Amino acid sequence: MRYEAVMGIEVHVELSTESKLFCACSAKFGAGANENVCPACAGMPGFLPVLNKKAVELGIKAGLVTESEITKKITFDKKNYFYPDLPAGFQITQWFSPICKNGRVSIETKSGAKTIRLKQIHIEEDAGKLVHAANSSSSMVDYNRAGVPLIEIVSQADFASAEEVVAYLKKLQSLLVYAEVSDCKMHEGSMRADVNISVREEGEKKLGVKTELKNMNSFKAIVNAVEYETKRQTEALEAGEKLIQGTRRWDEEKNMSFPMRTKEDATDYRYFPDPDIMPLAIGEKWIEEIRNSLPELAHQKFRRFADQYALSEYDAKILTENKRLSEIFEETTALCQNPKETANWLIVELLSLIKNDGREIEDVRIDCRKIAELIGLVLENAINRPSAKEIFAKIYRENVDPKQYVKEHGLGMISDSGMLYNACLDAIAEDPDGVKKYKNGNAKVFAAFVGTVMRKMKGKANTALINEILKKMLEEM
Ligand code: ZN
Ligand code: MN
Repeated sequence: MRYEAVMGIEVHVELSTESKLFCACSAKFGAGANENVCPACAGMPGFLPVLNKKAVELGIKAGLVTESEITKKITFDKKNYFYPDLPAGFQITQWFSPICKNGRVSIETKSGAKTIRLKQIHIEEDAGKLVHAANSSSSMVDYNRAGVPLIEIVSQADFASAEEVVAYLKKLQSLLVYAEVSDCKMHEGSMRADVNISVREEGEKKLGVKTELKNMNSFKAIVNAVEYETKRQTEALEAGEKLIQGTRRWDEEKNMSFPMRTKEDATDYRYFPDPDIMPLAIGEKWIEEIRNSLPELAHQKFRRFADQYALSEYDAKILTENKRLSEIFEETTALCQNPKETANWLIVELLSLIKNDGREIEDVRIDCRKIAELIGLVLENAINRPSAKEIFAKIYRENVDPKQYVKEHGLGMISDSGMLYNACLDAIAEDPDGVKKYKNGNAKVFAAFVGTVMRKMKGKANTALINEILKKMLEEM
């Protein structure tokens, strides 16, 4: 018997508003505990919610970039449950008439293109945060996040692998960051994913018993959790065990999932229309205004980059997938006037440095003027590429000044043809065997000669010049 996993995803994204969803408190991340709290978002009895127009606008934007239908009349509802981080004892969300329906997001994986269908997007308020202090039996609660506007993007059960899940989340991130709906920083919790996962026999149409993995905030955790949970459920089914529907917590350190609670049904939440919030009519005119206000999106920028800068589609795609990266590219190119060279440095060097450090581009402060200056030095033949690579990493890590660094470390390239000529002569004299091989048509030994000369020049020689001199010398022998 072969088994397959089927997954659906619910993504919570914090909206980039100044204030909270139903009060005027600041929605900014990073304030001191309970600094952004008022009686309304602290859930005091009798508070009256006032809907934040900007949050609705951003909800509509999210719908537009995911090809969703925008609902003409939206309502808000109360979802009742008790938890210490939810001071009112209910969350205001949208149950009966969510802002968007039937959207779609296209993804690409190794196995090709695929469309993920969205069931809906709804607007809701975030809960506060419990802080479990180490070495203490008590927990503390911070209500700064209580009332911060969120959208929840609910997909259909269209995913078959962790790779598809990650591709989808990255695509959502790109769409929403470009449209300025959210900064989507997973490590700050402004984007969090719940994955519903069930396993069934291949060919079976009915879904199996699902479990929900809650609040995962890194791609690594998601991949590990999906793989673990698929294996756990498959093994249980193979052993003839009965699976229990429920919510599970992913423990990143132990690399295991643990049961949190058995799943409540919608009826447990006693959803009912919030009598304090009027239904809101969304007119065609407002939607059009929002559509016209959308900034340049990734796919548009991709086309423009390919045309305006004559980049390959591959380069243009990588550079525009992330908005911040596309900005670094344009800023640097404007300074050094060499798009192709800039694209190479960013795609090859910058992205691998960031990847090795496990960082996000958004968190990297890099001075575009310094990258442009470095590219200038390479193009003027003032330094060779291996040195430039070293300096690039130094700019990224320590913000060094390239010209000064070249001076201090004596990295200026040796283009003195007399010196290089002598070094080439020595290299050839030291390796008569190599010369014989070269003469017999073994082109590979040429690279070895270049390497020898480079070593003699302590890595600072002009490679193009060495190539030229060596070729001539060997041919004349
Ligand atoms: Zn407040
Ligand atoms: Mn939710």
